[in-house]
Amino acid sequence: QWIYLNGEFVEKHNAKISVYDHGFLYGDGVFEGIRVYDGNIFQLKEHLERLYNSAKSIMLNIPHSLEELTQIIVETIKVNELQDAYIRLVVSRGVGNLGLDPASCPTPNVIVIAEQLTLFPKELYENGLEIVTVPTRRNRPDVLSPKVKSLNYLNNILVKIEASLAGVSEALMLNNEGYVAEGSADNVFIVKGNKILTPPGYVGALEGITRNAIIDIASDLGYDVKEEPFTRHDVYVADEVFLTGTAAEVIAVVKVDGRVIGDGKPGKETNKLLKAFRKKVVEDGEK
Ligand code: PLP
Repeated sequence: QWIYLNGEFVEKHNAKISVYDHGFLYGDGVFEGIRVYDGNIFQLKEHLERLYNSAKSIMLNIPHSLEELTQIIVETIKVNELQDAYIRLVVSRGVGNLGLDPASCPTPNVIVIAEQLTLFPKELYENGLEIVTVPTRRNRPDVLSPKVKSLNYLNNILVKIEASLAGVSEALMLNNEGYVAEGSADNVFIVKGNKILTPPGYVGALEGITRNAIIDIASDLGYDVKEEPFTRHDVYVADEVFLTGTAAEVIAVVKVDGRVIGDGKPGKETNKLLKAFRKKVVEDGEK
């Protein structure tokens, strides 16, 4: 496996970063997770635009143009001879001194890792996920916008820990007002009648690329899709609940905090949207 590291391809065991990198010391950097389906990179432009926006927000200069980054990703996939892959693109602040000030870090580190997929096991797509809500809150939009996909993932990690303490593999975070924000690394949707709701960005959700694709797909299919805040109660009484993300795609949730959702099986609309999503992935590749 070859890793892109600052202009070179190095073998996985040689792909190393200094302990003085502020990405390591402080979580100072940004990243993207991107999918490759049958040789086609899904929504690459959207991912790169989000990366540049995240970087701009934290005043990190990405030392490549969008075209250059595209080329780097394409090369990484090629060198690793992958058809279906998960790409991790990381831009860290780079090496500096022990102080917080990024001014001591003149050169960001740019890393691209391309791997075979590791998804949730197949039976979870067939049977649906059981999840819980956890005490960890989403960081407040006025502190560091949840729209910034930064290397600071501590609250998301706490969500994962709290989920596994509860004996489940995923969980939902609320914001400080008690509205449902998102999962540890996925967005959440609820279906009620013909209405589909997902929390708006200001509630404290990353504006997921998969989420946005699902909003478009659902609108095209004639659903009434809205970005609207909702509470745990709304989740408990929803007809269907599902999560979306680059790694997870679309996955049904069948139990939340012990409450069975719908009839306890992946919902009809969720399956329809998953099917439409898979179709879009193929169609985008043919363009
Ligand atoms: N929310 C968080 C916190 C994430 O890290 C991710 C993963 O990227 C998502 C949501 C889902 O976003 P996307 O569909 O762009 O992968």
